[in-house]
Amino acid sequence: METVFSKIIRREIPATIVYEDDFFLAFLDINPVTKGHTLLVPKTPYVWMQDVPDELLAESFILAKKIMKAMVVQIPCDYVQVGVVGEEVPHFHIHLIPQMLDPEKDHTKRQSAPYQNTNEMNVYATKISQNL
Ligand code: AMP
Repeated sequence: METVFSKIIRREIPATIVYEDDFFLAFLDINPVTKGHTLLVPKTPYVWMQDVPDELLAESFILAKKIMKAMVVQIPCDYVQVGVVGEEVPHFHIHLIPQMLDPEKDHTKRQSAPYQNTNEMNVYATKISQNL
């Protein structure tokens, strides 16, 4: 299925890239819950997680773990929240969201304009990518 993520993978629309190889692309979420919120996307556009072949799914989560490890080194956070939602974009992807331990906080609320500018987005993407 054609989605905005297919267009990002083909570089038809811009994204702030964190990681790329032959099978995966990771980039910053355009409407993040926190700074550094990253989406990890297999390039093949399976819609739901249960559609993804076992080997690719295993590789997705192994790569997610690698990105999480890079995040906790460079981004001030207590942990990285992992999510699979798919309400908006029907192309399987994993949300990786740096979070602080705070029982008062709504951990799903989107921040309005969390980055000061696109340069700050690039700084966050570089912070993560240089530790991969
Ligand atoms: P969901 O499909 O519910 O897991 O959410 C899709 C996610 O993709 C949301 O967090 C959106 O903010 C994000 N998103 C949608 N379009 C873009 C885009 N062009 N670049 C980066 N992230 C996007």
